[in-house]
Amino acid sequence: MTDNKENFEWCVIGAGPAGIAAVGKLLDHDIPAQKILWIDDKFKVGDLGAKWYDVSSNTTVQLFLDFLNECSAFQFKENKQHFQIEKIDPHHTCKLINIIEPLQWISNHLSRQVATYQGTAARLSVNNRYWEIAVDRNKFMASNVILASGAEPDRLHYKNVKEIVLEDALNYSQLKQCCDNVDSVAVFGSSHSAIIIIRYLVELGLSRIVNFYKSPLKFALRMDDWTLFDNTGLKGTTADWARENILGKIPENLYRYQATKQNIGTYLDGCDRVIYAVGFHPRVIEVAGMAGLRHNVHNGIIAPGLFGFGIAFPKQTIDLFGNREESVGLWKFMMHINAVLPIWLRYGL
Ligand SMILES: Cc1cc2nc3c(=O)[nH]c(=O)nc-3n(C[C@H](O)[C@H](O)[C@H](O)COP(=O)(O)OP(=O)(O)OC[C@H]3O[C@@H](n4cnc5c(N)ncnc54)[C@H](O)[C@@H]3O)c2cc1C
Repeated sequence: MTDNKENFEWCVIGAGPAGIAAVGKLLDHDIPAQKILWIDDKFKVGDLGAKWYDVSSNTTVQLFLDFLNECSAFQFKENKQHFQIEKIDPHHTCKLINIIEPLQWISNHLSRQVATYQGTAARLSVNNRYWEIAVDRNKFMASNVILASGAEPDRLHYKNVKEIVLEDALNYSQLKQCCDNVDSVAVFGSSHSAIIIIRYLVELGLSRIVNFYKSPLKFALRMDDWTLFDNTGLKGTTADWARENILGKIPENLYRYQATKQNIGTYLDGCDRVIYAVGFHPRVIEVAGMAGLRHNVHNGIIAPGLFGFGIAFPKQTIDLFGNREESVGLWKFMMHINAVLPIWLRYGL
């Protein structure tokens, strides 16, 4: 390993939307740019940029614009480019590519200011009141680390059916290719992603789409100043489609079964492909002496000087009626870091 002699005040691992917000907000809090190290394996706006660009958003364009304008260091208002998202009705939803484009611009803009390293952080450990970060064959030291490392889709393992991975299933043209010469596809789940995929498959006209669900469809419901099932309910055009086609006139090629062992045993048989849209699990980086990394679900603290942020370490919200949900989405990340960063700045090693 090469020793990198420089000690940083902050290291942010991950350059998805959460990492971008973290770097921007550290700069807004006057942390000198040269004291910030930013590590990512690609710097392409995380999984959002790499995998989900073709997906229809479940939040409005306005919330994306709020995210872009909330951080002074982003300098989004001063940008000379005109992004497509600025031309879309802010009350509408959009394809996620429309938010990825300006985020890539911001990521490049921030990367020119802070120190960056393209690689995969493998291990963290505490050494002499610094976090030591092992990346490839290098070693960096930082007083504080923000993990914004994202999450991977969960998978089930039904051995006899070939899987279409979630990122292909959520991209219409990729999915079309995966379904060539295929008659029958099973989809596990009833979330936003699952319903988008079922809609695509219905539109592709497969002869049989089998949907295994655990619970009834859930819809987000806007009340005066709060939203019921804000993070887990169907929204926008996906919700409209589900009402019309699942609760209304069910398409002839769609069969839905509760995901019991017996139903799966009976109806998965005969499916040519299977898609799992059943949730996400955090990408874990090894931290010495801390097996099963856990964050405080209210303030993101993992340990002194070590903080979790973004989809991998979501804030827990509790609504008026006591429902608990993980708070995920770009604007929610921004609100969360506004609240917790003043604490993180004072909770070092
Ligand atoms: C299908 C789908 C639709 C969505 N729709 C919306 C929406 O409409 N509106 C909304 O607000 N949100 C939406 N979201 C949620 C939001 O996009 C994600 O929660 C967000 O992209 C997560 O950002 P992140 O920065 O936490 O993680 P990611 O985007 O996954 O970024 C993590 C980054 O960290 C890197 N990384 C991981 N480990 C390491 C390591 N060890 N070393 C170096 N780099 C590492 C990864 O390669 C990646 O670049 C959606 C999510 C999905 C999956």
